[in-house]
Amino acid sequence: MVFEKAGQPLVLRQLPVPQPANDQVLLKVIACGICRTDLHILDGELSQPKLPLIPGHEIVGRIVKVGDGVIELKVNEVVGVPWLGYTCGHCKFCKQGKENLCDNPLFTGYTIDGGYAEYTVADARFCFRLDEAYAKYSSAPLFCAGLIGFRSYQMIDPAAINLGIYGFGAAAHILIQIAIAQGKKVFAFTRDADEQAQRFAKSLGAGWAGNSSEVPPERLDAAIIFAPVGELVPMALKNIDKAGQVICGGIHMSDIPAFSYDLLWGERMIKSVANLTRQDGLDFFNILKSVSVHTQTEVFQLSEANEAINRLRTGKINGAAVLVMK
Ligand SMILES: [Zn+2]
Ligand SMILES: [Zn+2]
Repeated sequence: MVFEKAGQPLVLRQLPVPQPANDQVLLKVIACGICRTDLHILDGELSQPKLPLIPGHEIVGRIVKVGDGVIELKVNEVVGVPWLGYTCGHCKFCKQGKENLCDNPLFTGYTIDGGYAEYTVADARFCFRLDEAYAKYSSAPLFCAGLIGFRSYQMIDPAAINLGIYGFGAAAHILIQIAIAQGKKVFAFTRDADEQAQRFAKSLGAGWAGNSSEVPPERLDAAIIFAPVGELVPMALKNIDKAGQVICGGIHMSDIPAFSYDLLWGERMIKSVANLTRQDGLDFFNILKSVSVHTQTEVFQLSEANEAINRLRTGKINGAAVLVMK
C-alpha cells in the first residue's frame, strides 16, 4: 500500500520484492501495526516523507534473505522492526547514547519504506530478534505503541504511584498492563463521553476512567499524554502534584495553549519523548519476560489499509489496528 501524496488514500500496487543491501535483511512481513504517526504522515503533518512511500513501522516478520554483511541475524528468524531504522553512529547524540535524537536518522515507514507490504527490507542492526512466540499479528503493536509507551513511562519518576494516561489507544492499553504489574494506580482520560474506551481502560485495571476535562478523585504523581491534543498539557498540569511530570508521548501535537506559571510551579515538568533507542527495545522485551502483556487488536487485510486508517482516525479502534499479510 503506497503513499503518494498528502491527503490522498493509499494506493494498492504490485511492486518487485526488494533485495537486501549489505547490512539489510529481507523480511516476509507477518503483520504491521497502524500507528497514529502514520496518520500524521498521510495528513502531511510530518512533512519530509520519502515519496512514494510504503508506510508502517510496527513490523513483525520472518527473515527470508540476509545481506552479505549481516552476521547477527539468520534466515527464518523472527524479528520486529521499529520506527528507528538507522542512526549515523557519530553525531553528538549518537556518541552520548541518545541515538533516538540522532542528527541523521532514517525512520521506518517515513524516510525509508516500511511494512504495509508483503515484503520489506530493514537494517539488521535496528531489528529486534524475537522468540518464535512473537511470530503473530498481535505482536505488531509492541514495536511502536509498546516501545514509545514504555519510553514515556521510563521518563516518569519511578516513585510515582498515581499515573494519569491521556488518550487510551494502542500505546496506553499496552502500557497500563506494565504499570499495574509494577504497582501503579492508573487514571485513564479519554475523549469526552467515550464510554467504550473508558470501559476498556477499566477492564485492563484502571482505577478510574473519565473524560479528559474531568478532575480525577486523587492527585496524580505523573501524567503521560498520548493524544495529539495540546490542550491536554495544561489540563494534566492542573492534576499533577508537586514535582510531577507531564510526558508528551506523541510525535505531533496541536498547539499548547498559554497557561499560568502557577501550573508549572512546584518543580513540575513537561517533557517530550522522541523516537526510541535500541536499548529501550532490549529493556522493554526484557520486562515482557516477566509481565505478560496482551494486545487487543482489530485485524485488517493489507488491501483494507485505508479503511483501517479511517477507523483509527475516528476513534473507532479499541486497542490497536493491525494489517495482516497473507
Ligand atoms: Zn547520529
Ligand atoms: Zn508509531
